[in-house]
Amino acid sequence: MAPAPTTATVSPAPVHPNRVRVLLPGQGPPAAGPVVYWMLRDQRLADNWALLHAATLAAASAAPLAVAFPLFPKPFLLSARRRQLGFLLRGLRRLAAHAADRRLPFFFLTGGPAEIPALVRRLGASALVADFSPLRPVRQALDAVVNDLRHDGLTVYQVDAHNVVPVWAASPKLEYSARTFRGKMNKVLDEYLVEFPELPEVVPWDREQPEEIDWDVLIDTVCREAEDVPEIDWCEPGEAAAMEALLGSQDGFLVKRIKSYDTDRNYPTKPKALSGLSPYLHFGQISAHRCALEAKKRRHLSPKSVDAFLEELIIRRELADNFCYYQPHYDTLAGAWDWARKTLQDHAYDKREHIYTREQLESAKTADHLWNASQLEMVHHGKMHGFMRMYWAKKILEWTSGPEEALSIAIYLNDKYHIDGRDPSGYVGCMWSICGLHDQGWKERPIFGKIRYMNYAGCKRKFDVDAYISYVKRL
Ligand code: FAD
Repeated sequence: MAPAPTTATVSPAPVHPNRVRVLLPGQGPPAAGPVVYWMLRDQRLADNWALLHAATLAAASAAPLAVAFPLFPKPFLLSARRRQLGFLLRGLRRLAAHAADRRLPFFFLTGGPAEIPALVRRLGASALVADFSPLRPVRQALDAVVNDLRHDGLTVYQVDAHNVVPVWAASPKLEYSARTFRGKMNKVLDEYLVEFPELPEVVPWDREQPEEIDWDVLIDTVCREAEDVPEIDWCEPGEAAAMEALLGSQDGFLVKRIKSYDTDRNYPTKPKALSGLSPYLHFGQISAHRCALEAKKRRHLSPKSVDAFLEELIIRRELADNFCYYQPHYDTLAGAWDWARKTLQDHAYDKREHIYTREQLESAKTADHLWNASQLEMVHHGKMHGFMRMYWAKKILEWTSGPEEALSIAIYLNDKYHIDGRDPSGYVGCMWSICGLHDQGWKERPIFGKIRYMNYAGCKRKFDVDAYISYVKRL
């Protein structure tokens, strides 16, 4: 068993001490061996608190610094497909080039996290710094590495570089709703939402050099092994493209499009009203912290839109991490609150007008042309509009034989086709739609029980359904 984490007592100054936890305390005085940053979820060099912590440790003990990225072997992490793996690897290829320009060694480990202990031993590392994900396979991999290294004497740290407020500092428990979470977040947000310092200078690398990576061969091999869901071409991977999507003078969200976010974000016919940042946020190619800082600087231009964006970016997104961190059953009916599980079970045998198999749903063969369009938007474009995601998941509840099956099909399709899939926000989105998570009970009705209901007529009243269907056909 890995020891219980403690908050770092000796956190070098630039990183808030509560952002850093010690997963394995070192034995004896700090050695001058290299510091290794195990990059997991935060695949960027800029605005990265975990890299900053690693660099600060290295600078303090005149030790060199390296970055390691182990690719989870097949079945790839949470069954990532060609679509997601291609995006990840193409982003890393740019990151590796950028690291080389800065003389920062980048070790890409094809054997997965199990290679981390051997690497840190070979390098004689004095510290290992990992970033944070609340998802089970990542936590299991981290626990296994910590356990393997328990007699090696080095210190293992974990830094929450993904959330604006570290998940364990935002709340010590599973939150009931955005309302309860928002109150806690607002009390501490200013303390954490501060500008990033410069990365400190570290001594040059003088150890084993990373193996040369033939990125074309690697991407080709990995993508061939992954099940065939084609890559997308409308969203360029990497940190530079992510910053362009946020701040670019041509079409950057905060520069050109933020003003209509408040009024238009729930209209599937106006996809440009959304930021489009979720692929970059999911792969950590941009930091939510950076997005929030930049949005706040522009608040005077459009206060309502910036506030609405910060609500989604910080409160809703980090509430999803809270759920997955504190609820081990984050992706099954067992993770729903009692009231929701009961009402769904009470109505599990209600008569359904349609029952579709997973294959029928996957190939968009239902009687509802609006739903089919949203499914095709996800399958071909790789990103469904946020409003349609709610309708899409709720209909799966209505058209399958029970809530467990509905949830498992929704998560399967969401993770398979969405470029931003396999993310806490995805598990929570499906749980919200199907199991009433972070929502309240509504008037009881067939199949849904007290879970909030959505229907075609409501969509038709809200937006031009035919215009959305035509838009999807043109994608
Ligand atoms: P914007 O509206 O511009 O939002 C900016 C950012 O805020 C997003 O990138 C995201 O990080 C965060 N955000 C926005 N809405 C939510 C929300 N409801 N919950 C949590 N964070 C939010 N999001 C994913 O990242 N991956 C998923 O796999 C995913 N699956 C979903 C499935 C269902 C059934 C539902 C209802 C929601 C899902 N979401 C998912 C949440 C949300 O729909 C997407 O984050 C959003 O549509 C992404 O597009 P955007 O970046 O253009 O959004």
